Amino acid sequence: MRVHFHGAAGEVTGSMHLVEVAGKRVLLDCGMCQGSAEMEASNADPFPFEVASIDAVVLSHAHIDHIGRVPLLVKRGYRGPIFTQQATADLLPIMLLDSASIAEGDAERFNRRRRAGEPEQVPLYTREDVKLVLEQVQPLAYDTQTKIVEGVEVCLRDAGHILGSAIVELWGDGRKLVFSGDLGLHGTPILRDPTAVQEADLVLMESTYGDRNHRDRAETIVELGDILESAWRDGGNVLIPAFAVGRTQELLYWFARHWEDWQLSRWRIFLDSPMAGKVVEVYDHHHALFDADAQAVWRGTPNPFRLPNLRTTSTTEESMAINRIEGGAIIIAGSGMASGGRILHHLMQNLGRRGAHVVFVGYQGNGTLGRRLVDGARWVRIHRKDFRVNAKIHTVGGLSAHADQQGLMAWFGHFEPKPALALVHGEDKAREALAGEIGERDGVEVTLARPGTTLDV
Ligand code: ZN
Repeated sequence: MRVHFHGAAGEVTGSMHLVEVAGKRVLLDCGMCQGSAEMEASNADPFPFEVASIDAVVLSHAHIDHIGRVPLLVKRGYRGPIFTQQATADLLPIMLLDSASIAEGDAERFNRRRRAGEPEQVPLYTREDVKLVLEQVQPLAYDTQTKIVEGVEVCLRDAGHILGSAIVELWGDGRKLVFSGDLGLHGTPILRDPTAVQEADLVLMESTYGDRNHRDRAETIVELGDILESAWRDGGNVLIPAFAVGRTQELLYWFARHWEDWQLSRWRIFLDSPMAGKVVEVYDHHHALFDADAQAVWRGTPNPFRLPNLRTTSTTEESMAINRIEGGAIIIAGSGMASGGRILHHLMQNLGRRGAHVVFVGYQGNGTLGRRLVDGARWVRIHRKDFRVNAKIHTVGGLSAHADQQGLMAWFGHFEPKPALALVHGEDKAREALAGEIGERDGVEVTLARPGTTLDV
């Protein structure tokens, strides 16, 4: 068994690993690179392997940095099966059609402004390409070992990161590989905790937060309540950049849980996302995957997805109307790293207002607007205009969708005997710290995979 690392190897986006096993080639994830303009442009590069040589694709979960280049793979000729968990299969069309719309919109805008002589821009892929992808998807249930191609079996285990997220166990050539995908944080609401796996010859583990521990969730929730209280006193709006899948549903869960004590009925709450309504439907179809606490919360009132003052806005006009509100609104919108999406318009309206609050609840990647704001920038550039930052910027660490250093160490700690370990999906600072900790505790050699790294097992 041989693994080639092609993405999210030294950074947190563009997850893609190629496994050569039993004479077959299996691609684990096919994600989009996100962040700086340069990184995003790299998505159009040729794949670092022969597309026609791939026999099967396995997707860990529905975040775009793990699935965003699948339509490109299909556009360039991949016709084989795409295996993923059932809930992820339901989320795929929502996520990929949105991604295609963004690509089509960007290309159209570029071509409209194009100067004479400049070549026409072609979208990375279109909604038509996504339709082909969906025909190739083969949903799998959790905890069921399945032959995906001759000589290769996989089993998906709940990773507790977002709905449908999976740890991939893969067998072939008498060896076993475990790919963590993105691992959730222990005790994350709605979802079950990441499954402990005991056996492997090689583990590919994410390391997003390999160098730090999150604040305690209970403290974080108190902090979130305090931010809402001070925002109410300041008379401004609260902006929460959040990915449509994962943090958005968790926020609504907390709003339902603290409906009374946070006096949420006095706010207007907007879920400003064309995708959010559809994602909520998928969550509603998969209550069986919720943990016991969430199943109880969803039976009670208010239902997190049906808060009485919650409005889900899908059209651009509805979204623009929110721009006129100067205070008393909680606006949840994507993208989570403020690198695009509707949150940009709300930031343009609100960043200059002293009473406004911006609350970051997830990881802010290098080169993103979110990272600049979190790092304390006083001026930021959005859509070619400069904006002074007068709003208060908050980072609430404990709501992360990712396991922290303790969580990653605990998950790897379940393996016995200790397998070889490659750290993926983390910036170098985070991976080096985690590699140091695990090396010291378990005495294993840890590979910090880079694009182009090959590992034999
Ligand atoms: Zn993820």
